[in-house]
Amino acid sequence: MDARLEAIKDTVLARNPGEAEFHQAVVEVFESLGPVHDRHPEFLEAAILERLCEPERQIIFRVPWTDDSGRVQINRGFRVEFNSALGPYKGGLRFHPSVYLGIVKFLGFEQIFKNALTGMPIGGGKGGSDFDPRGRSDAEVMRFCQSFMTELYRHIGEYTDVPAGDIGVGGREIGYLFGQYKRITNRYESGVLTGKGISWGGSLVRPEATGFGTVIFTQEMLKTRGASFDGQRVVVSGSGNVAINAIAKAESLGATVVACSDSSGYVVDEAGIDVALLREVKEVQRGRLTDYAERRGGVTYVDGGSVWDVDATVALPCATQNELDGDAAARLVRNGLVAVGEGANMPSTRDAVAVFQEAGVLFGPGKAANAGGVATSALEMQQNASRDSWSFEHTEERLTEIMVGIHDRCAATADEYGDPGNYVLGANIGGFVKVADAMLAQGLI
Ligand code: NDP
Repeated sequence: MDARLEAIKDTVLARNPGEAEFHQAVVEVFESLGPVHDRHPEFLEAAILERLCEPERQIIFRVPWTDDSGRVQINRGFRVEFNSALGPYKGGLRFHPSVYLGIVKFLGFEQIFKNALTGMPIGGGKGGSDFDPRGRSDAEVMRFCQSFMTELYRHIGEYTDVPAGDIGVGGREIGYLFGQYKRITNRYESGVLTGKGISWGGSLVRPEATGFGTVIFTQEMLKTRGASFDGQRVVVSGSGNVAINAIAKAESLGATVVACSDSSGYVVDEAGIDVALLREVKEVQRGRLTDYAERRGGVTYVDGGSVWDVDATVALPCATQNELDGDAAARLVRNGLVAVGEGANMPSTRDAVAVFQEAGVLFGPGKAANAGGVATSALEMQQNASRDSWSFEHTEERLTEIMVGIHDRCAATADEYGDPGNYVLGANIGGFVKVADAMLAQGLI
């Protein structure tokens, strides 16, 4: 790392102790930014990096609620409003027991660059809670969401901060959150949340957008080597929103997706995952992969273990951070891997990224490859602002244009900075320069 940036990085890490995921995200971005500061000393003089690493606002709050047996439960809620240089803070809410400030800050930090890369007018933020929706009834989830929004509502708004879903937050949770926001504020402010249902202000393609976008980005990378998804053997981790839609899109382009996972284990389905059945099991019944394996028949279910033990030519990690380590990366490379598209945020460890890059594997980092979700959220905001709703075809066309644009911008930036094919460098520099220019223009705030 560039010595000037090393000193800033050390200060940032010391000021934010115990936040390992945030540290990892900061280091990964700083490693790309040396050449930018050679060309733009004004960014150093204006302390852009120091300011960028300090969220504009961090909100931590108590979320009390009662479970179905009448017992009081207490969770912790977070919203980190990281950077508003390009537009209102924008980023999802995550409900998972692992959520703490360091996770929310890593996600919010990544979101700044991702949102800049989309070319849409949105800043970066993220939030969530250590609430675990798994095994909770609809009524419990509703009471939790209502309590969460009873504090959050005062910090958000269509021109201020626009949350969406993430792990553990899908259409059901967004519905309960929106209902409570509307009730407290007495405003039908559609643009305050994205990921809404179609009949009450949502956008077609939003549910599919992150997974579809990841595959479109990966397809663009494959094209640079004269290849495509057709005939690829694909492994996807996770079986949630992003994973299911990545599987659907990859299969529609001629790939065979032979495995996917959840936090309990993984399924190997050599004939190709049956997406319609997977959707029914996961999205309608809220079941597990064991239920998929049982109903599908003729497939292998592995309890525990790593889905990355399954050979693939294309890997799409779509579950969670740091799920693919250096050993798994080396095994995949030995067995013929050609491309990785990150549907999840920071799913590959730094060691894994190094292995992929050294082996010449096409590697699309999450902040570029999974930006289709937030980009389509911005399209949802556009439709809300104009009180319009677009067709599936039109919205999907816009998503495709945006993903191809992000790919091309990352590739062109990597070329410009002398490291062709390095999408990590391209994404980090491309996103950073846009935000840094806006911050400079807006003065010391
Ligand atoms: P979901 O909650 O719909 O699905 C998450 C999936 O990942 C589930 O299959 C879950 O398994 C698995 N998973 C979660 N945590 C772990 C863990 N610690 N270990 C192993 N498996 C785990 O979330 P999404 O699909 O929305 O999000 C997946 C990833 O994509 C996240 O990194 C998210 O930040 C990222 N992302 C999501 C966007 C969106 O639009 N939703 C946008 C951009 C990025 P189980 O059910 O067993 O918990």
